[in-house]
Amino acid sequence: MQMRKMLSTKNYNYGQYEDFEKVNGETLAEGYNIVNKGCLTCPIKCARTVRVNGEAVKGPELETLGLLGGGILNNNLQKILDWNNEIDELGMDTISASSTLAYAMEANEKGLWNNGLEFGKIDNISQIWEDIAHRRGIGDELAEGSKRLSEKYGGKEFAIQSKGLELAAYEPRRAVGQGLGYAVSNRGGCHLNGGYMVILEGLGLNTDSQTPKGKADFTMMFQDLMETISASGQCLFTSYAFFPGFLITRPNGGITTTANKLIPHLGGVIRVMNRFSPAIAMHLPVFHHTKMFKYALGMPMTFGKYLRIGERGYTLERYVSMRFGVSAKDDTLPKRLTHTPQDANDPKTVVPLEKMKKVYYKARGWDKDGKPTNSTLRRLQIVK
Ligand code: SF4
Repeated sequence: MQMRKMLSTKNYNYGQYEDFEKVNGETLAEGYNIVNKGCLTCPIKCARTVRVNGEAVKGPELETLGLLGGGILNNNLQKILDWNNEIDELGMDTISASSTLAYAMEANEKGLWNNGLEFGKIDNISQIWEDIAHRRGIGDELAEGSKRLSEKYGGKEFAIQSKGLELAAYEPRRAVGQGLGYAVSNRGGCHLNGGYMVILEGLGLNTDSQTPKGKADFTMMFQDLMETISASGQCLFTSYAFFPGFLITRPNGGITTTANKLIPHLGGVIRVMNRFSPAIAMHLPVFHHTKMFKYALGMPMTFGKYLRIGERGYTLERYVSMRFGVSAKDDTLPKRLTHTPQDANDPKTVVPLEKMKKVYYKARGWDKDGKPTNSTLRRLQIVK
Protein backbone atom coordinates (compact mmCIF):
# COMPACT_ATOMS: atom_id res chain seq x y z
CA MET A 1 0.00 0.00 0.00
CA GLN A 2 2.88 2.35 0.84
CA MET A 3 4.54 1.61 -2.49
CA ARG A 4 1.32 2.24 -4.41
CA LYS A 5 0.37 5.38 -2.42
CA MET A 6 -2.74 3.60 -1.13
CA LEU A 7 -1.96 3.94 2.58
CA SER A 8 -4.29 6.43 4.23
CA THR A 9 -2.03 8.95 5.93
CA LYS A 10 -2.91 11.93 8.14
CA ASN A 11 -6.64 11.41 7.75
CA TYR A 12 -6.35 10.64 4.03
CA ASN A 13 -4.40 13.79 3.22
CA TYR A 14 -1.69 11.62 1.71
CA GLY A 15 -1.17 8.07 0.48
CA GLN A 16 2.26 7.43 1.99
CA TYR A 17 3.64 7.60 5.51
CA GLU A 18 7.37 8.21 5.92
CA ASP A 19 7.59 6.08 9.11
CA PHE A 20 5.57 3.20 7.68
CA GLU A 21 8.34 0.68 8.34
CA LYS A 22 8.00 1.22 12.08
CA VAL A 23 4.34 0.18 12.07
CA ASN A 24 4.03 -2.30 9.20
CA GLY A 25 3.26 -6.00 9.04
CA GLU A 26 6.91 -7.05 8.70
CA THR A 27 7.93 -5.18 11.85
CA LEU A 28 4.96 -6.69 13.66
CA ALA A 29 5.86 -10.20 12.49
CA GLU A 30 9.54 -9.90 13.36
CA GLY A 31 9.38 -8.14 16.69
CA TYR A 32 5.93 -8.56 18.21
CA ASN A 33 4.00 -11.54 16.85
CA ILE A 34 4.11 -14.53 19.21
CA VAL A 35 2.18 -17.01 17.11
CA ASN A 36 -0.52 -16.98 14.43
CA LYS A 37 -3.79 -18.51 15.52
CA GLY A 38 -7.03 -19.26 13.79
CA CYS A 39 -9.80 -21.74 13.05
CA LEU A 40 -9.04 -25.43 13.49
CA THR A 41 -7.97 -26.65 10.06
CA CYS A 42 -7.35 -23.36 8.31
CA PRO A 43 -3.91 -23.01 6.72
CA ILE A 44 -4.15 -19.19 6.77
CA LYS A 45 -4.50 -18.71 10.55
CA CYS A 46 -5.28 -15.02 10.20
CA ALA A 47 -5.08 -13.92 13.85
CA ARG A 48 -1.85 -12.63 15.32
CA THR A 49 -1.03 -12.93 19.00
CA VAL A 50 0.93 -10.14 20.68
CA ARG A 51 1.87 -9.16 24.18
CA VAL A 52 0.04 -6.37 25.99
CA ASN A 53 0.77 -5.71 29.68
CA GLY A 54 2.48 -9.11 29.90
CA GLU A 55 -0.51 -11.01 28.50
CA ALA A 56 -0.85 -12.70 25.11
CA VAL A 57 -3.79 -11.08 23.29
CA LYS A 58 -5.12 -10.75 19.74
CA GLY A 59 -3.01 -8.45 17.57
CA PRO A 60 -4.17 -5.75 15.16
CA GLU A 61 -5.35 -6.26 11.59
CA LEU A 62 -4.09 -4.35 8.58
CA GLU A 63 -6.69 -1.57 8.78
CA THR A 64 -5.89 -0.93 12.43
CA LEU A 65 -2.15 -0.71 11.74
CA GLY A 66 -2.83 1.74 8.93
CA LEU A 67 -5.36 3.97 10.65
CA LEU A 68 -3.76 4.05 14.10
CA GLY A 69 -0.32 4.37 12.47
CA GLY A 70 0.03 6.72 9.51
CA GLY A 71 -3.65 7.72 9.80
CA ILE A 72 -2.86 9.77 12.91
CA LEU A 73 0.92 10.06 12.31
CA ASN A 74 1.83 7.62 15.07
CA ASN A 75 4.98 5.51 14.64
CA ASN A 76 4.76 3.69 17.98
CA LEU A 77 3.75 0.10 17.23
CA GLN A 78 3.43 -1.03 20.84
CA LYS A 79 0.87 1.74 21.37
CA ILE A 80 -1.17 0.38 18.45
CA LEU A 81 -1.11 -3.09 20.03
CA ASP A 82 -2.25 -1.65 23.38
CA TRP A 83 -5.01 0.46 21.82
CA ASN A 84 -6.17 -2.35 19.54
CA ASN A 85 -6.64 -4.61 22.56
CA GLU A 86 -8.38 -1.89 24.54
CA ILE A 87 -10.75 -0.95 21.72
CA ASP A 88 -11.60 -4.63 21.15
CA GLU A 89 -12.21 -5.21 24.85
CA LEU A 90 -14.50 -2.20 24.95
CA GLY A 91 -16.52 -3.66 22.09
CA MET A 92 -15.79 -0.92 19.58
CA ASP A 93 -14.63 -1.07 15.97
CA THR A 94 -11.00 0.00 15.49
CA ILE A 95 -11.67 1.44 12.02
CA SER A 96 -14.47 3.75 13.12
CA ALA A 97 -12.74 4.68 16.39
CA SER A 98 -9.42 5.61 14.76
CA SER A 99 -10.90 7.36 11.75
CA THR A 100 -13.16 9.47 13.97
CA LEU A 101 -10.09 10.39 16.02
CA ALA A 102 -8.24 11.41 12.83
CA TYR A 103 -11.20 13.60 11.81
CA ALA A 104 -11.14 15.27 15.26
CA MET A 105 -7.38 15.94 14.95
CA GLU A 106 -7.85 17.59 11.58
CA ALA A 107 -10.85 19.62 12.79
CA ASN A 108 -8.65 20.87 15.64
CA GLU A 109 -5.76 21.65 13.27
CA LYS A 110 -8.08 23.63 11.02
CA GLY A 111 -9.52 25.60 13.94
CA LEU A 112 -13.04 24.18 13.57
CA TRP A 113 -13.11 22.38 16.91
CA ASN A 114 -10.74 23.20 19.75
CA ASN A 115 -10.33 19.73 21.30
CA GLY A 116 -6.61 19.40 22.13
CA LEU A 117 -6.11 16.43 19.76
CA GLU A 118 -3.13 16.67 17.41
CA PHE A 119 -1.63 14.47 14.70
CA GLY A 120 1.51 12.79 16.01
CA LYS A 121 0.72 13.59 19.65
CA ILE A 122 -0.16 10.31 21.31
CA ASP A 123 0.33 10.83 25.04
CA ASN A 124 -3.29 11.87 25.55
CA ILE A 125 -4.87 9.08 23.42
CA SER A 126 -4.93 6.08 25.78
CA GLN A 127 -7.67 7.53 27.97
CA ILE A 128 -9.82 8.42 24.99
CA TRP A 129 -11.04 4.91 24.11
CA GLU A 130 -12.52 4.43 27.57
CA ASP A 131 -14.00 7.89 27.47
CA ILE A 132 -15.72 7.07 24.16
CA ALA A 133 -17.11 3.80 25.51
CA HIS A 134 -18.40 5.44 28.69
CA ARG A 135 -19.38 8.69 26.92
CA ARG A 136 -17.30 10.89 29.17
CA GLY A 137 -15.90 14.33 28.32
CA ILE A 138 -14.62 14.56 24.76
CA GLY A 139 -15.33 10.84 24.38
CA ASP A 140 -19.03 11.63 24.53
CA GLU A 141 -18.62 13.68 21.35
CA LEU A 142 -16.27 11.25 19.58
CA ALA A 143 -18.78 8.45 20.21
CA GLU A 144 -21.03 10.14 17.63
CA GLY A 145 -18.63 9.25 14.78
CA SER A 146 -17.14 11.44 12.08
CA LYS A 147 -20.33 12.00 10.08
CA ARG A 148 -22.30 13.60 12.89
CA LEU A 149 -19.26 15.48 14.19
CA SER A 150 -18.68 17.01 10.77
CA GLU A 151 -22.33 18.08 10.63
CA LYS A 152 -21.80 19.84 13.97
CA TYR A 153 -18.30 21.32 13.54
CA GLY A 154 -17.86 21.41 9.75
CA GLY A 155 -15.27 19.66 7.60
CA LYS A 156 -17.61 17.22 5.85
CA GLU A 157 -15.05 16.99 3.06
CA PHE A 158 -12.54 15.34 5.40
CA ALA A 159 -14.92 13.19 7.46
CA ILE A 160 -13.77 9.96 5.79
CA GLN A 161 -17.03 8.00 5.84
CA SER A 162 -19.86 6.86 3.62
CA LYS A 163 -23.43 6.38 4.89
CA GLY A 164 -22.01 7.10 8.35
CA LEU A 165 -19.48 4.26 8.36
CA GLU A 166 -15.78 5.22 8.35
CA LEU A 167 -13.62 3.82 5.52
CA ALA A 168 -10.78 1.33 6.00
CA ALA A 169 -7.11 2.20 5.37
CA TYR A 170 -7.13 1.72 1.56
CA GLU A 171 -6.87 5.18 -0.04
CA PRO A 172 -9.26 5.01 -3.03
CA ARG A 173 -7.76 7.87 -5.01
CA ARG A 174 -5.16 5.24 -5.98
CA ALA A 175 -7.69 2.42 -6.32
CA VAL A 176 -10.79 3.97 -7.82
CA GLY A 177 -12.79 0.71 -8.00
CA GLN A 178 -12.32 0.37 -4.26
CA GLY A 179 -13.72 3.92 -4.01
CA LEU A 180 -16.85 2.91 -5.91
CA GLY A 181 -17.29 -0.05 -3.57
CA TYR A 182 -17.01 2.12 -0.45
CA ALA A 183 -19.65 4.48 -1.85
CA VAL A 184 -22.28 1.97 -2.97
CA SER A 185 -21.80 -0.62 -0.23
CA ASN A 186 -25.04 -1.51 1.52
CA ARG A 187 -23.60 -1.12 5.00
CA GLY A 188 -21.73 2.12 4.34
CA GLY A 189 -18.03 2.61 3.63
CA CYS A 190 -17.09 -1.03 4.13
CA HIS A 191 -14.06 -2.40 2.27
CA LEU A 192 -15.48 -5.95 2.25
CA ASN A 193 -19.17 -5.37 1.52
CA GLY A 194 -17.95 -2.89 -1.10
CA GLY A 195 -16.36 -5.73 -3.09
CA TYR A 196 -12.68 -5.36 -2.13
CA MET A 197 -11.59 -4.20 -5.58
CA VAL A 198 -8.23 -3.21 -4.15
CA ILE A 199 -7.25 -6.84 -4.66
CA LEU A 200 -7.24 -6.19 -8.43
CA GLU A 201 -5.90 -2.66 -8.13
CA GLY A 202 -2.64 -3.28 -6.34
CA LEU A 203 -2.84 -5.69 -3.41
CA GLY A 204 -2.93 -8.88 -5.48
CA LEU A 205 -3.00 -8.04 -9.16
CA ASN A 206 -1.86 -4.73 -10.53
CA THR A 207 -4.43 -3.57 -13.04
CA ASP A 208 -4.69 0.15 -13.87
CA SER A 209 -5.83 1.56 -10.53
CA GLN A 210 -6.85 4.98 -11.90
CA THR A 211 -9.09 3.93 -14.77
CA PRO A 212 -12.84 3.66 -14.19
CA LYS A 213 -13.05 1.14 -17.06
CA GLY A 214 -14.45 -2.23 -16.08
CA LYS A 215 -14.50 -1.32 -12.40
CA ALA A 216 -18.28 -1.14 -11.97
CA ASP A 217 -18.84 -4.63 -13.38
CA PHE A 218 -16.06 -6.25 -11.37
CA THR A 219 -17.27 -4.45 -8.23
CA MET A 220 -20.72 -5.94 -8.76
CA MET A 221 -19.37 -9.44 -9.32
CA PHE A 222 -17.08 -9.37 -6.29
CA GLN A 223 -19.85 -7.99 -4.10
CA ASP A 224 -22.15 -10.80 -5.21
CA LEU A 225 -19.55 -13.53 -4.74
CA MET A 226 -18.62 -12.31 -1.28
CA GLU A 227 -22.30 -12.02 -0.40
CA THR A 228 -22.79 -15.74 -1.08
CA ILE A 229 -19.56 -16.68 0.70
CA SER A 230 -20.84 -14.83 3.78
CA ALA A 231 -24.36 -16.20 3.49
CA SER A 232 -23.05 -19.76 3.33
CA GLY A 233 -21.05 -19.32 6.52
CA GLN A 234 -17.68 -19.59 4.81
CA CYS A 235 -14.80 -17.32 5.75
CA LEU A 236 -14.38 -14.28 3.51
CA PHE A 237 -10.62 -14.80 3.41
CA THR A 238 -11.25 -17.89 1.27
CA SER A 239 -12.24 -15.53 -1.55
CA TYR A 240 -8.50 -14.98 -2.13
CA ALA A 241 -8.46 -18.53 -3.51
CA PHE A 242 -10.41 -17.19 -6.51
CA PHE A 243 -7.05 -16.07 -7.90
CA PRO A 244 -4.70 -18.82 -9.11
CA GLY A 245 -1.57 -18.57 -6.95
CA PHE A 246 0.81 -17.76 -9.79
CA LEU A 247 -1.09 -14.53 -10.57
CA ILE A 248 -0.07 -13.22 -7.15
CA THR A 249 3.31 -14.89 -6.65
CA ARG A 250 4.63 -13.97 -10.08
CA PRO A 251 3.52 -10.33 -10.42
CA ASN A 252 5.77 -9.71 -13.44
CA GLY A 253 5.03 -13.01 -15.19
CA GLY A 254 3.60 -12.97 -18.71
CA ILE A 255 0.14 -14.25 -17.73
CA THR A 256 -0.16 -11.79 -14.83
CA THR A 257 0.89 -8.86 -17.00
CA THR A 258 -1.65 -9.87 -19.65
CA ALA A 259 -4.39 -10.29 -17.04
CA ASN A 260 -3.63 -6.83 -15.64
CA LYS A 261 -3.97 -5.32 -19.11
CA LEU A 262 -7.12 -7.27 -19.99
CA ILE A 263 -9.20 -6.68 -16.86
CA PRO A 264 -10.33 -3.08 -17.65
CA HIS A 265 -11.67 -4.35 -20.98
CA LEU A 266 -13.67 -7.24 -19.55
CA GLY A 267 -16.51 -5.19 -18.02
CA GLY A 268 -18.96 -6.18 -20.78
CA VAL A 269 -18.13 -9.87 -20.41
CA ILE A 270 -18.63 -9.75 -16.64
CA ARG A 271 -21.94 -7.94 -17.08
CA VAL A 272 -23.30 -10.54 -19.49
CA MET A 273 -22.11 -13.30 -17.11
CA ASN A 274 -23.92 -11.63 -14.23
CA ARG A 275 -27.09 -10.93 -16.17
CA PHE A 276 -27.36 -14.48 -17.48
CA SER A 277 -25.69 -16.24 -14.58
CA PRO A 278 -28.01 -19.31 -14.59
CA ALA A 279 -26.52 -20.10 -17.99
CA ILE A 280 -23.13 -20.72 -16.32
CA ALA A 281 -24.23 -24.18 -15.26
CA MET A 282 -20.79 -25.45 -14.32
CA HIS A 283 -18.17 -25.53 -11.62
CA LEU A 284 -15.48 -22.96 -12.39
CA PRO A 285 -12.13 -24.68 -11.64
CA VAL A 286 -10.58 -21.51 -10.11
CA PHE A 287 -13.50 -21.04 -7.73
CA HIS A 288 -13.55 -23.87 -5.21
CA HIS A 289 -16.56 -22.80 -3.19
CA THR A 290 -19.19 -24.44 -5.36
CA LYS A 291 -17.59 -27.88 -4.92
CA MET A 292 -17.25 -27.28 -1.17
CA PHE A 293 -20.93 -26.47 -1.08
CA LYS A 294 -21.79 -29.69 -2.88
CA TYR A 295 -19.56 -31.89 -0.71
CA ALA A 296 -20.78 -30.34 2.55
CA LEU A 297 -24.49 -30.20 1.77
CA GLY A 298 -25.10 -32.51 -1.14
CA MET A 299 -26.72 -29.54 -2.86
CA PRO A 300 -25.77 -29.20 -6.55
CA MET A 301 -24.12 -25.82 -6.97
CA THR A 302 -22.85 -24.16 -10.13
CA PHE A 303 -20.88 -20.95 -10.47
CA GLY A 304 -23.85 -19.18 -12.04
CA LYS A 305 -26.22 -20.23 -9.29
CA TYR A 306 -23.69 -19.12 -6.68
CA LEU A 307 -23.40 -15.68 -8.31
CA ARG A 308 -27.18 -15.32 -8.54
CA ILE A 309 -27.61 -16.07 -4.82
CA GLY A 310 -25.23 -13.22 -4.02
CA GLU A 311 -26.91 -10.84 -6.43
CA ARG A 312 -30.28 -11.61 -4.91
CA GLY A 313 -29.00 -11.00 -1.38
CA TYR A 314 -27.24 -7.78 -2.31
CA THR A 315 -30.26 -6.44 -4.16
CA LEU A 316 -32.62 -7.45 -1.37
CA GLU A 317 -30.51 -5.45 1.11
CA ARG A 318 -30.63 -2.47 -1.21
CA TYR A 319 -34.39 -2.84 -1.62
CA VAL A 320 -34.85 -2.80 2.16
CA SER A 321 -32.50 0.21 2.50
CA MET A 322 -34.47 1.93 -0.25
CA ARG A 323 -37.61 1.65 1.87
CA PHE A 324 -35.71 3.58 4.54
CA GLY A 325 -34.93 6.33 2.03
CA VAL A 326 -31.52 5.24 0.70
CA SER A 327 -30.85 6.19 -2.92
CA ALA A 328 -28.09 7.46 -5.22
CA LYS A 329 -27.74 10.57 -3.07
CA ASP A 330 -26.35 8.38 -0.26
CA ASP A 331 -23.81 6.55 -2.42
CA THR A 332 -21.14 9.14 -1.75
CA LEU A 333 -17.57 9.73 -0.67
CA PRO A 334 -16.17 12.79 1.09
CA LYS A 335 -15.13 15.52 -1.35
CA ARG A 336 -11.46 15.11 -0.44
CA LEU A 337 -11.55 11.81 -2.34
CA THR A 338 -13.63 12.91 -5.32
CA HIS A 339 -12.51 16.52 -5.82
CA THR A 340 -8.99 16.96 -4.39
CA PRO A 341 -6.31 15.08 -6.37
CA GLN A 342 -4.00 13.12 -4.09
CA ASP A 343 -1.16 14.33 -6.32
CA ALA A 344 -1.71 18.03 -7.02
CA ASN A 345 0.14 17.60 -10.34
CA ASP A 346 -2.03 14.71 -11.50
CA PRO A 347 -5.75 15.54 -11.83
CA LYS A 348 -6.48 11.84 -12.43
CA THR A 349 -5.74 11.00 -8.79
CA VAL A 350 -9.35 11.42 -7.63
CA VAL A 351 -12.20 8.90 -7.55
CA PRO A 352 -14.39 9.48 -10.67
CA LEU A 353 -17.35 8.35 -8.63
CA GLU A 354 -20.35 9.68 -10.58
CA LYS A 355 -19.04 8.18 -13.81
CA MET A 356 -18.63 4.73 -12.25
CA LYS A 357 -21.95 4.91 -10.37
CA LYS A 358 -23.87 5.33 -13.63
CA VAL A 359 -22.32 2.18 -15.10
CA TYR A 360 -22.76 0.30 -11.82
CA TYR A 361 -26.49 1.07 -11.54
CA LYS A 362 -27.01 0.04 -15.15
CA ALA A 363 -25.07 -3.19 -14.64
CA ARG A 364 -27.11 -4.01 -11.56
CA GLY A 365 -30.45 -3.25 -13.23
CA TRP A 366 -31.10 -0.32 -10.90
CA ASP A 367 -32.53 3.01 -12.12
CA LYS A 368 -30.64 6.32 -12.28
CA ASP A 369 -31.61 7.02 -8.71
CA GLY A 370 -29.95 3.80 -7.57
CA LYS A 371 -33.20 1.91 -7.00
CA PRO A 372 -33.65 -1.68 -8.20
CA THR A 373 -36.21 -1.62 -11.02
CA ASN A 374 -39.33 -3.77 -10.87
CA SER A 375 -38.04 -6.02 -13.61
CA THR A 376 -34.78 -6.59 -11.66
CA LEU A 377 -36.76 -7.39 -8.51
CA ARG A 378 -38.91 -9.83 -10.47
CA ARG A 379 -35.91 -11.43 -12.20
CA LEU A 380 -34.38 -12.11 -8.77
CA GLN A 381 -37.72 -13.31 -7.38
CA ILE A 382 -37.72 -10.62 -4.71
CA VAL A 383 -41.20 -9.50 -5.80
CA LYS A 384 -43.78 -11.30 -7.94
S1 SF4 B 1 -11.00 -19.63 8.47
FE1 SF4 B 1 -10.86 -17.41 8.12
S2 SF4 B 1 -11.17 -16.50 10.17
FE2 SF4 B 1 -10.57 -18.68 10.48
S3 SF4 B 1 -8.32 -18.62 10.67
FE3 SF4 B 1 -8.80 -19.03 8.53
S4 SF4 B 1 -8.72 -17.02 7.54
FE4 SF4 B 1 -8.92 -16.68 9.77
